Amino acid sequence: MHISDRLIKTSLPEPLLSGLGQSIVYDAQGKDREISNGLSMNKIFEQVEQAKQEWEATLDALPQMVCLIDEDGRLLRANRTIERWRLGSVTEIKSVPLHHVLHPICREEDCELRRFILACQDEQQPASLEIDDPYLRRFLLIKAQPVRRRGLVDGGKIAIIIQDTTQEKEAEKSLHQTNVALEQALEAKKEMIQNVSHELRTPLTIILGYTTLLADDDLGPLTAEQKEAIQVLTDQSQQLHDMIERLLLVQSLDESRVQPMACHLPALLQRFLLSWQAHARQKGVHLILDGGDEEFPLVSLDPTLLEHVLNNLLGNAIKFSPFDSTVNVRLWKTAQEVHIAVIDQGIGIAPENQKYIFERFYQVDGSQTRKAGGVGIGLALSQKIIQAHAGRLWVESLGEGKGSTFYVSLPLTIDT
Ligand code: ADP
Repeated sequence: MHISDRLIKTSLPEPLLSGLGQSIVYDAQGKDREISNGLSMNKIFEQVEQAKQEWEATLDALPQMVCLIDEDGRLLRANRTIERWRLGSVTEIKSVPLHHVLHPICREEDCELRRFILACQDEQQPASLEIDDPYLRRFLLIKAQPVRRRGLVDGGKIAIIIQDTTQEKEAEKSLHQTNVALEQALEAKKEMIQNVSHELRTPLTIILGYTTLLADDDLGPLTAEQKEAIQVLTDQSQQLHDMIERLLLVQSLDESRVQPMACHLPALLQRFLLSWQAHARQKGVHLILDGGDEEFPLVSLDPTLLEHVLNNLLGNAIKFSPFDSTVNVRLWKTAQEVHIAVIDQGIGIAPENQKYIFERFYQVDGSQTRKAGGVGIGLALSQKIIQAHAGRLWVESLGEGKGSTFYVSLPLTIDT
């Protein structure tokens, strides 16, 4: 008889055989005899046992509960997390339905976990379930995966991983509560600013009315000195009045406030610049407009709101420019947008401050900014106005002392 007729293949699983990288054969009596590269069967079983123990130790070390259930939902095996969660010992829970282990006092028909396992078994598809478990008093994330062998369903077995997500959920909950509290605080702040602004507006309007009457000699003639004092009062009251108007506008502005009309931007800009020329000259600043002609397309925008933006940008450019410098206003168009740039040679803005200057009440720290006055509301309002026009407003500056350029881009058409 040929030797191959006396040899039979072992019944070891194929993956194990291929994992060991050798064919195992031994004689018909099943004796531990012959293996192609000289390993004995005992050695192989030792290795298998060691691999099994290592895997068990790895699974036991996991914080998640990992288990395998049969087609009736009964536990075939589980890692030791089940003991750490005080649900029983790994030996005791064998053959007990998983939902009994987790939810011992739950009525079968009401048990969410049982329904989930049944559905997963029916559909033979991976599934997950998040529960706020009243029995364990934990948030659980349960993931189920039908077990397949060589692509085929393995007797309805399902591998289940249960993760305790209580900490994450509680962190999420407290973050949500903080957000709600923050929103309420912001709302309260907004309301307070609005109320205070409204309260201030009325007496200020009255003060401005009287200063105008006095300045115009309507209440009797004034000396030159008195007129000068009245002028200071009028200027300061007007500044306060403008600030309050801007505060009220920034709180209430949204797209619905925009009243667009077709505007010829070159003409609009020329008018704005003319109104700033005297002030610029007084500060030794040359104000120059570049670009835009008769042919420039009409743009749909709210001219009153745009005036706020340009007044803010031009006012700042002049305010932060040195004597005998130039502020250029450029206008040009591209296929979809029109662009305005206000370019100054002033104190510049350090890169780390550039993203904050559009926030309400933000002013770059520094004596020059403080000296120049203002409360840091102008750019926040300008940003809101431009956004309400579906446009963009941003700044570029190479840093302190290197001038700043503020850009406004507006779409050529506005949907209203
Ligand atoms: P403010 O009323 O204080 O001018 P803004 O919102 O208009 O408020 O501006 C916010 C801050 O941005 C200013 O206080 C200043 O620090 C900075 N800033 C704005 N424009 C310029 C500019 N052209 N050059 C340098 N800094 C500027």
